[in-house]
Amino acid sequence: MADSKADCLFCSILSGDVPADIIFESETAIAFRDINPQAPTHVIIIPRQHIPTINDISADDQTIVGSLYTAASTIAVAEGVADDGYRVVMNCNADAGQSVFHIHLHLLGGRALGWPPG
Ligand code: 5GP
Ligand code: ZN
Repeated sequence: MADSKADCLFCSILSGDVPADIIFESETAIAFRDINPQAPTHVIIIPRQHIPTINDISADDQTIVGSLYTAASTIAVAEGVADDGYRVVMNCNADAGQSVFHIHLHLLGGRALGWPPG
């Protein structure tokens, strides 16, 4: 499990070492298009701070984590999915299928999304 900054894919995207289609940047967060999109709009929103999982979020991180959601609403408008609807989801650990251990919101939209998820 890549749970340290040194071997974290999303920290490498933040540093510019790994290229990504970055569509949003703020003081606390960036967003880029998912490499394997599951919907017409599939954007990954990450904090600049390396936090491995939801379980590692502390009270001090609340402003940063909140900024992921304000980023999501801004991006949803820019992507044209705000009115029809979209989903934001953050997976935690194995049962949820988390594969990159730097917290991130998935923003999915552009089609009707099934519920419950698989
Ligand atoms: P998780 O499974 O951890 O919730 O989500 C990780 C997401 O990162 C997946 O949807 C996966 O497609 C995406 N991803 C993995 N590697 C890369 C990459 O190198 N670039 C981009 N843009 N997305 C990636
Ligand atoms: Zn990281």
